[in-house]
Amino acid sequence: NVKEEINLADLDTLAKKNFPPCMKHLHEVLKANHHLKHDGRLIYGLFLKSIGLRYELFIEFWRNEFTKKMDEDSFNKHHLYNFNHQYGKVGRRVSYSAYSCMKIIMNVVAPGDPHGCPFKCFGPDNLRAKLVEEGISEQKISEIENIAHSDHYQLACTKYFEAVHSQPPKVTINHPTSYFQQSISLIKD
Ligand code: SF4
Repeated sequence: NVKEEINLADLDTLAKKNFPPCMKHLHEVLKANHHLKHDGRLIYGLFLKSIGLRYELFIEFWRNEFTKKMDEDSFNKHHLYNFNHQYGKVGRRVSYSAYSCMKIIMNVVAPGDPHGCPFKCFGPDNLRAKLVEEGISEQKISEIENIAHSDHYQLACTKYFEAVHSQPPKVTINHPTSYFQQSISLIKD
């Protein structure tokens, strides 16, 4: 089960087409603000590692974004160690796993912070706007909203997957990495 290499040049397209809504949102917020707070960095970083972004590109990615707003020295001083640590290159060299849906859903998210599960954390208007933006039909949007509003976030995400890929995932969504892998494999089939 060898992971294919991810190129930085493909990341925007992958985020748009193959990332689950949680990671797509973190990607968009990072691209817009050139910054993410601690939890967002951790959750998005571990996800990127889990889908096969190799170490050198991982650091280059964060450096590129962060140094749009801060100089190289500040990045090296304040952030490089943490990204190295996240990837398991320094400190106890632990290979941290990417967060599962449950872990993301249970995580405490302050209003406006971008690192929650959108099906739980987006307000109803914002969720609807995002679904409309994806070109999802009104009927499917209502289905997704109903499931999300009854607190079945992973089922809502599974329905969402089905709506944007015109077929359901083989395995019910329970992990952002699984969402990504299933999305990619559909495209290859
Ligand atoms: Fe992400 Fe899981 Fe929420 Fe889907 S259900 S948006 S994969 S946290």
